[in-house]
Parts: sequence; C-alpha cells; structure tokens
Amino acid sequence: MKLPKVIDNNLCEQQAHTQWENICRRCGRCCYEKIEYLGKIYLTNTPCEYLDLATNECTVYLQRCQKKQGCVALNEKIIAMGVLPGSCAYVQKIENYPAPFPWSDLPEEIRKSLIEEFS
Ligand code: SF4
Ligand code: SF4
Repeated sequence: MKLPKVIDNNLCEQQAHTQWENICRRCGRCCYEKIEYLGKIYLTNTPCEYLDLATNECTVYLQRCQKKQGCVALNEKIIAMGVLPGSCAYVQKIENYPAPFPWSDLPEEIRKSLIEEFS
C-alpha cells in the first residue's frame, strides 16, 4: 500500500500541522469503537464516550491520549494500520486502503458476544 504525500515539505512545522489538521472533515466516524475479530477490524456503531454526537468533536481533545485507552494522535503509521474508515478524508486517495469492515458484516450473535466481551 502506498500512502499519498499529503504535506508540502516546504511548509514550516506550524503550517504543516495546520494543513494536516485541515484535511479532517470532522465527521467523527473514526471515534467509533473498533473491534478485531479473527484478524479483521470491524467498525462498530458505538461512539467513544468522549465524542460529542451533536458536533462530532472530541470533548477532551487535548488530553485524548491520556483519557481514552487506545486513542492516539493520527500519523502516517496509524493510517497504514487500516483503522480509519474508508470514508475518512485521510485515506480516500490511498490505493488498496484496507478499511475496517462494517459492523453489519458480522452475524448478530457474534456482535452481541463481542460487545459483552469488550464492555
Ligand atoms: S478520546 Fe479519542 S476516540 Fe474518543 S472522541 Fe476523543 S479523539 Fe475520538
Ligand atoms: S474519520 Fe477522518 S475525516 Fe472523519 S473525523 Fe476522523 S480523521 Fe477526520
């Protein structure tokens, strides 16, 4: 998988950071829980407890990596792991991006048992 170059090397650090942040459409979809099952990642319909569902914004953004286990700042390595939804602005131009599978792909009884296991 080849990641497209999204940042212009001629920008200063602050400009590059702003450009990187501006790619995000603030849809909030990456802040829904993901569950790995039999080696595949599934994107659930359960939002993170810190996601404001009215604005799709994180309510603890500056402390998110401390407040929420598994929440990490986005970088190219994380993108390559395939945890962002296929609709995410950061991955839309990536050829063969391995997007998480829809939660609805799993049979209901498996979904129930996974939710119980992870809650
Ligand atoms: S803590 Fe992380 S996963 Fe939760 S809403 Fe904030 S950015 Fe999203
Ligand atoms: S899924 Fe992508 S575009 Fe949507 S909020 Fe997350 S990082 Fe931004």
